[in-house]
Amino acid sequence: MREANFYHAAPDGVLQCDLCRHFCRIRAGSSGLCRVRRNVDGKLFSLTWGRAVTQAADPVEKKPLYQFMPGTQTWSLGTPGCNFRCANCQNWEISQALPDESIPLVAPEEIVRNAIRAGCRSISCTYTEPTIFAEYALDIMQLARQAGLRNIWVSNGYLSKICLNAIRPWLDGINVDLKSMDDAFYRRLCGARLDPVLDSLRLIRKSGIYLEITTLVIPGHSSDPAMLERLASFIARDLGTDVPWHLIPFYPEISWKMPETPPTSIDAIEKAWEIGRKAGLSYIYAGKAHNDTLCPRCGATLVTRTRQFSGYRIERFDVGGRCPACHAPSPIRD
Ligand code: SF4
Repeated sequence: MREANFYHAAPDGVLQCDLCRHFCRIRAGSSGLCRVRRNVDGKLFSLTWGRAVTQAADPVEKKPLYQFMPGTQTWSLGTPGCNFRCANCQNWEISQALPDESIPLVAPEEIVRNAIRAGCRSISCTYTEPTIFAEYALDIMQLARQAGLRNIWVSNGYLSKICLNAIRPWLDGINVDLKSMDDAFYRRLCGARLDPVLDSLRLIRKSGIYLEITTLVIPGHSSDPAMLERLASFIARDLGTDVPWHLIPFYPEISWKMPETPPTSIDAIEKAWEIGRKAGLSYIYAGKAHNDTLCPRCGATLVTRTRQFSGYRIERFDVGGRCPACHAPSPIRD
């Protein structure tokens, strides 16, 4: 375990964690909501520094990031724990795990070496919420940048401004889950609130970090057309119509606590895609039917993505950073 960087002692002596929007007040001997940051004798410790429980080379499309270095592999890792308790979580075996000192320590240098050895062009802090292992992520990101790799986070957007300011110099791209526009959804299913996520999204967009957004369409929970209209309008109005929006189907069989909820139908995904189009979003990715990037000005195909057993087959048609037909700038970041 390592002493945390992001906390202060409140006037009453209790430690306040400043890393995520829960701002837990942690008494001696206790842990925060994420269960991986503990007050030990008046100092806050990160219990999962170096405990990379999963490491693998993934297509960057799997994060999902579709317009950021398409066709490249990203070295992906996560540590146990999460600051959310999403009943729908599909990584719950590690996100809801307790810190475990039997997990071997993996030094940041080793993560970077593994990424380079696997031919990856970036490192992704993913699988669980990177905010809760921010000190470890920062150590990795700084070394990765020196080695010429890019840095990616896949996040629930609950990071504090303090955390965002700390990672901003090192973070190149992020995919943030915007799960719903209903605060009740966040409270009921995730143990969190909506407004902090919206605030983070606005700050991330302003920061210049490359951003894509994902919404899991859960039947009966985050499939209501009126809610999706508000969500798509928020992206268009507050973040920009050029921010890509991914619509992902829900699979009950791998969820943490929602095995009775039906899977998302193709029709529901298609309706959500149409809602995004009506809101004016230029890049909406949904199922097999909407996997390609089209030029928003003339409709020419810029990138095609074909899902294969081993990943994605990517074909590029943009030329010199421009649409091959109308020569408008391509949205793809290489
Ligand atoms: S990271 Fe968030 S959940 Fe964990 S202790 Fe800090 S404020 Fe609490």
